[in-house]
Amino acid sequence: MSRPNSTAARDIAHQLHPYTNAVRHAEIGPIVMDRGEGIYVFDDQGNRYIEGLAGLWSVAVGFGEKRLVEAARKQLDKLPYYHTFAHKSHLPSIELAEKLAEMTPEGLSHVFFTNSGSEANDTVIKLVWYYNNALGRPKKKKFLARTQGYHGVTVAAASLTGLPNNHRDFDLPAIPVRHLTCPHFYRFGNPGETEAQFVERLAAELEAVIQEEGADTIAAFIGEPLMSAGGVIPAPEGYWQKVQEICRRYDILVVADEVITGFGRLGTTFGSEHYGIKPDLMVLSKQITSSYQPLAAIMISDDIFKAVADNSGKIGTFGHGYTATGHPVATAVALENLAIIEERKLVENATAMGKVLQARLAKLASHPLVGEVRGVGLIAGVELVADKATKARFAEHGKVGAYVFARAHHHGLIVRNIMDTLAFCPPLIITESQIEEMAQAFERTLDDAA
Ligand code: PLP
Repeated sequence: MSRPNSTAARDIAHQLHPYTNAVRHAEIGPIVMDRGEGIYVFDDQGNRYIEGLAGLWSVAVGFGEKRLVEAARKQLDKLPYYHTFAHKSHLPSIELAEKLAEMTPEGLSHVFFTNSGSEANDTVIKLVWYYNNALGRPKKKKFLARTQGYHGVTVAAASLTGLPNNHRDFDLPAIPVRHLTCPHFYRFGNPGETEAQFVERLAAELEAVIQEEGADTIAAFIGEPLMSAGGVIPAPEGYWQKVQEICRRYDILVVADEVITGFGRLGTTFGSEHYGIKPDLMVLSKQITSSYQPLAAIMISDDIFKAVADNSGKIGTFGHGYTATGHPVATAVALENLAIIEERKLVENATAMGKVLQARLAKLASHPLVGEVRGVGLIAGVELVADKATKARFAEHGKVGAYVFARAHHHGLIVRNIMDTLAFCPPLIITESQIEEMAQAFERTLDDAA
């Protein structure tokens, strides 16, 4: 029970929290965060935590970065708001579009801005439909996604997401999406199957679904280069090559949802670079501003842009956009954030510290509760199991993960529980000694759970 009039009690009185059991929340109340510094955050009781998930996989440059505050302040002073509708523009959005066109893989030279990853994926669906209508292919509208994939929560984006909690009791309308097998070899590989055979099986499944639905009805395949919110699942060797090869053969667009993997997370500027993906559309958010401002961007291939632009000329407009599309303060903050990432060589730091993180967490593999340690660069997952030999899950799936998540707070650590997998995704500024501090806090937590 929270004290009456405490910040916790006031929170309980008036907020419905995302991704929260509201009944339980009313019993235990929130941890009320007050401030942040580097990789640490402090609650209003003065407790310090290592932010092992960089907020929500997003605060690349760490907390308390004064240059971002200054960039926002300057822009607020000069032009706090303007839109980009109907032939209007402003310099921060122009400069960020130029910067993103330069940074992202060749051929992605146009951008559409939104406020969140979910809105960006909604926009992807509409863009792809508009594009195929423009090309005179009105039947080519279905999306392929994966179970455990995460693409957001708006009505259309939630339909792409392959996680039960985002569907249950929401009565999502019938957006045409087929979910394919999650490419997690540890969980979904058959007994005796090699990883290469697993990849072949998933490729055969993809091709069978295309045959069954008809290639002329399938518009796009969407995937996170490395699945994150669904359990931190790196793609198996050769998986993306097969997916791309099949999609190209059937004229199906490839959409890389880089909301988490964009801007250095895997130790490369984009996750597509790590896996050799050449996307037709790329979705970016989170680390684009280190989440100091809400912003997302869809990078659009030249072919798609041309068809969309021509169609808008024909029918009179591209009838889509948000009040805050390309918001001047958000785009100004993004420019400064990307400058910091470059100047401080944070992608290079993610490569170097990624090796340290993966090696340190790999040592946990011998712990009695740990089934698999996996990850790339500065993102990792530690999956807890009831039986290491059989990979059997705990009787109540997710309960041990939830315990570890809550218990970690006592050891000054914030991690994310995804069922019984604990996710790590620290700010890209993390140092070797801070990785050690984080790992030790996690070890103490695990020992409490054993
Ligand atoms: N796509 C991916 C890969 C994500 O991880 C997320 C959020 O975690 C989203 C989309 C949705 O972004 P938002 O929460 O900003 O709507």
